[in-house]
Amino acid sequence: MIVMELSLQRFYITSVLILLSSMLTAVNAYAVDYWNYDNSGGYGPDKWSEYYSDCAGMMQSPIDINTTDVLYDPDLAYFDFSGYNLTNGVDLTLVNKGGHTAEVLYTGKEVLLKGGNLPADYRLVQFHFHWGSTNTTGSEHAMDGMHAPMELHLVHIQSRFSNASVAQLKPFGLAVLGFLFEISPENNTKYDELLSQFYKIQTVVNNTQDNETEIGTFSLYELLPENLDKLDFYRYFGSLTTPPCYESVIWSVATEKIPISEYQLNIFRSLYDDQHQHLKDDFRPVQNIDKRTVTTTKEPAVTEPMSSTQVTVFQCPTTEKPGNSASFLVGQNLNVVLVLLLTIFKVLS
Ligand SMILES: [Zn+2]
Repeated sequence: MIVMELSLQRFYITSVLILLSSMLTAVNAYAVDYWNYDNSGGYGPDKWSEYYSDCAGMMQSPIDINTTDVLYDPDLAYFDFSGYNLTNGVDLTLVNKGGHTAEVLYTGKEVLLKGGNLPADYRLVQFHFHWGSTNTTGSEHAMDGMHAPMELHLVHIQSRFSNASVAQLKPFGLAVLGFLFEISPENNTKYDELLSQFYKIQTVVNNTQDNETEIGTFSLYELLPENLDKLDFYRYFGSLTTPPCYESVIWSVATEKIPISEYQLNIFRSLYDDQHQHLKDDFRPVQNIDKRTVTTTKEPAVTEPMSSTQVTVFQCPTTEKPGNSASFLVGQNLNVVLVLLLTIFKVLS
């Protein structure tokens, strides 16, 4: 009898423990699944690392690119964007992604990115944007401490992986291209077609679900700077800029910016997030670059040599650069000689 009571007690205790454990798992599941860009609510970028440990890593993105500190790499090749021309058999879905961003998903035939010293061919899976509430915030990457009003990310996975969930766990599994925008007084008409569809994803369904709509296919060349064959970029190794922040991304940030008008930016800003607030400022702050090096395809500008006239007049005797004290003194001496000659000429005449 006593044995039976003990068994029953053990059963009740075990049941309560299992119930408590499943309740805790449910709470954690909510915490793990949910994040946003609002630091005041407990789920913003400041707190991401508490739920996603990789967000505290040493190779995080985005970063501030100090353009005078980057290393010119003559062996860093340009990208081959010929795959971006494919439109037949490619299906596009425009998504208000849980109130985090506006995204275009790629399915159907593979759109491939090659070259750029990538270790393999990479397949485009989606592109999306990050933008700000003002024209001086919005981009995730900064250049020399300055942010752009918006940034486009083209997300690719190594073509041997079946999907982004698998690829993001592998070293160099992802290759992301970043393009910063600059305000233009004119509309960038190449964005008209895409922006004309935004009214379909204005809000997030049930405040939490993605809001999706099929859109017509267009060539990606439309959205990017001209002369893509010689697109200069900055290269570094980093992470996803959203949780779970996996450090599996080969980053390439274009040096050239894409023009966009304020009117067009306001179409992005008119979308709604999961809190039914205007979707904006959906960017992660820049992360510590730590010991990483940023390389570039862009040759450093050559210092202007002195013009032949300057050289004749000053006859600079040193190898120092123009404008230094030696050439200045030579110039001063010539001026004194000229003044003396003019004075003598005046006295004589
Ligand atoms: Zn992004």
